[in-house]
Amino acid sequence: MTNAILSMDRINKVFGFGELALHVLKDVSLEVREGEFVSIMGPSGSGKSTLMNIIGTLDRPTAGGYFLQGEAVHALSEKRLAELRNEAIGFVFQHFFLLPRSNALANVELPLIYGGKGRAERQEIARQALDRVGLSAKYRAMPNQLSGGEKQRVAIARAISTKPRFILADEPTGALDTATSAQIMRLFRDLNGDGTTVIMITHEQEIAEWADRIVRIRDGRIESDEPVAKREAKEVAG
Ligand code: ADP
Ligand code: MG
Repeated sequence: MTNAILSMDRINKVFGFGELALHVLKDVSLEVREGEFVSIMGPSGSGKSTLMNIIGTLDRPTAGGYFLQGEAVHALSEKRLAELRNEAIGFVFQHFFLLPRSNALANVELPLIYGGKGRAERQEIARQALDRVGLSAKYRAMPNQLSGGEKQRVAIARAISTKPRFILADEPTGALDTATSAQIMRLFRDLNGDGTTVIMITHEQEIAEWADRIVRIRDGRIESDEPVAKREAKEVAG
């Protein structure tokens, strides 16, 4: 597939050794193409976070191939891995991970510092990213002055500020109420409409259905991988 951003070929992950070995991921093969919005769904303990860490290049598979933008991630040096991670992936987490003593603008600017951009340019990009997520009025707000949904918007602005190849979101609504969760999912849909590829991990069916495709994992294996039906009905209802 020419426009695949990432592909995994029979990924396995084993924690521990010998009698204590725990085989967490079993022959997981997966391909994500540019412009997709994919949910990875499964019950607690099924291996979602383990898979997320491998997709995010924060951990390596025990066996199998992982290719990101055509590079063989499983064989890269730590240095190249860190570069690739910064170029390619915008992370969004359940608990936001904002710097508590930095305002919204400074939080969004942070990954741009590694990109070596000057201060004026960084601030301009950070303002645009905050505008994009609906926080034009909150540039100077500190994290403790923001609601949960607003904090997650800052984190999403930070994730898109570097123009990554894809956003990788781990339970992005896990700390939010139902109404706020729907707003955040609508934002992901908007960003996806602009062409942003989104990979989202969740244990909630309701949330997973905001994507166009759901990959279900159970016991470390892919159980199903299917498009989401009834999108129009959902958007009308939502
Ligand atoms: P999920 O995110 O779907 O809840 P995880 O990927 O966190 O599942 O965990 C899957 C299984 O792998 C669990 O049994 C968990 O205890 C185990 N596991 C996860 N990380 C480690 C680790 N670093 N060392 C040992 N076992 C682990
Ligand atoms: Mg998890």
